[in-house]
Amino acid sequence: MTAQPNPRAGAAVKAADRAHVFHSWSAQELIDPLAVAGAEGSYFWDYEGRRYLDFTSGLVFTNLGYQHPKVVAAIQEQAATLTTFAPAFAVEARSEAARLIAERTPGDLDKIFFTNGGTEAVEHAVRMARVHTGRQKVLSAYRSYHGATAASIHLTGDPRRWANDTGAAGVVHFWAPFLYRSPFHAENERQECERALQHLEDTLVFEGPATIAAIVLESVPGTAGIMVPPPGYLAGVRALCDRYGIVLVLDEVMAGFGRTGRWFAADLFGVTPDLMTFAKGVNSGYVPLGGVAISGAIAETFARRPYPGGLTYSGHPLACAAAVATIHVMEEEGVVEHAARLGEEVFGPGLRELAERHPSVGEVRGTGVFWALELVRDRETREPLVPYNATGEDNAPMAAFAAAAKERGLWPFVNMNRTHVVPPCTITEAEAKEGLAALDEALSVADRHTTAA
Ligand code: PMP
Repeated sequence: MTAQPNPRAGAAVKAADRAHVFHSWSAQELIDPLAVAGAEGSYFWDYEGRRYLDFTSGLVFTNLGYQHPKVVAAIQEQAATLTTFAPAFAVEARSEAARLIAERTPGDLDKIFFTNGGTEAVEHAVRMARVHTGRQKVLSAYRSYHGATAASIHLTGDPRRWANDTGAAGVVHFWAPFLYRSPFHAENERQECERALQHLEDTLVFEGPATIAAIVLESVPGTAGIMVPPPGYLAGVRALCDRYGIVLVLDEVMAGFGRTGRWFAADLFGVTPDLMTFAKGVNSGYVPLGGVAISGAIAETFARRPYPGGLTYSGHPLACAAAVATIHVMEEEGVVEHAARLGEEVFGPGLRELAERHPSVGEVRGTGVFWALELVRDRETREPLVPYNATGEDNAPMAAFAAAAKERGLWPFVNMNRTHVVPPCTITEAEAKEGLAALDEALSVADRHTTAA
């Protein structure tokens, strides 16, 4: 599954990258990106001939793995027939993708506005909520990631917001439940849920409910640490939104399309939002695509007055053809059920078993193919293995852990003091076990930085 090693070609790719590519979220001279020669299924490889099992799905988007032949063929076929067309026309790939998505989203989320990715989906969801309610303020959780522009970076709780934060977007943050590091000093899930809902209601009341357009919330927060909310929390947020006339936006950009072992994470809780954002898994990221699924009531707002927003590439035929093929493959191959089974039978038990043996693992949490290990210096105090938002030397223990995983052929997802286990939803059981074995060895390196060592 790897091409012949070709280090010279790899060196040329790296040299051009270094000279001319400006990378996201990076100090340009302090990074050394791997030159990737190819990828297939759950693996990718470099020009030296080294192969890696991808426990990241890129940025949690290749839910079908790399180069799925049916999705590649659909893109090729669409390119050969109608590569592109402006959004104001009805085009088969676009209307079919919208139909297939609407049929799978919960409740009456039956209209789809297409964007080029998740950030734009959040931007448009906020705009729809503001126009629909006539209100401006938006609430989101501190431990969150919603995107990197205008409103979406303000909504993001992650420290990447700080450098851009003008505080002018009418965003107010609140604490969502997270029992392991409970903002409410709760001792169990039920308490955490009740206190989180009380805190949210207090925040609404003191902000003035009549000024609040929307609550934007990841159904299962991803980048911030894969924190599956306690039972009842999302239903409670739904009830608060109903009571105060606030639009509930569930952000399913990362958690949607099979990742949690359901089509959408909201399905885990039986909750239907008013707007739902998606991207990534909708077409495994083969061509950029995102969107907003819109409820009947909000669609009605724009039935006779124009929606004040749009994008040149809204519903790009190539991206939509990839989405249509992706959804068909997910159904034909039972990808959602496979993800659920992997979570219950392989990742859940496998990761908990690692936690028993490795003092660096403070908590294992997740569902489906969506897991996080919280690495700590001390299990009793729960002191994180590295400080919040650490860089350079302060981050050395996590860097050592990541390097150890890569040496063993595993490409890990590392964020702050956590490693997320987020391989393609199509990963086989044997591949998953191979990854867990490599993770086992890499965690021994993390253990050296704990008080138990
Ligand atoms: N919302 C969530 C929940 C995400 O995880 C992300 C991306 N990680 C975004 C929005 C932004 O999506 P994109 O990077 O495609 O613009």
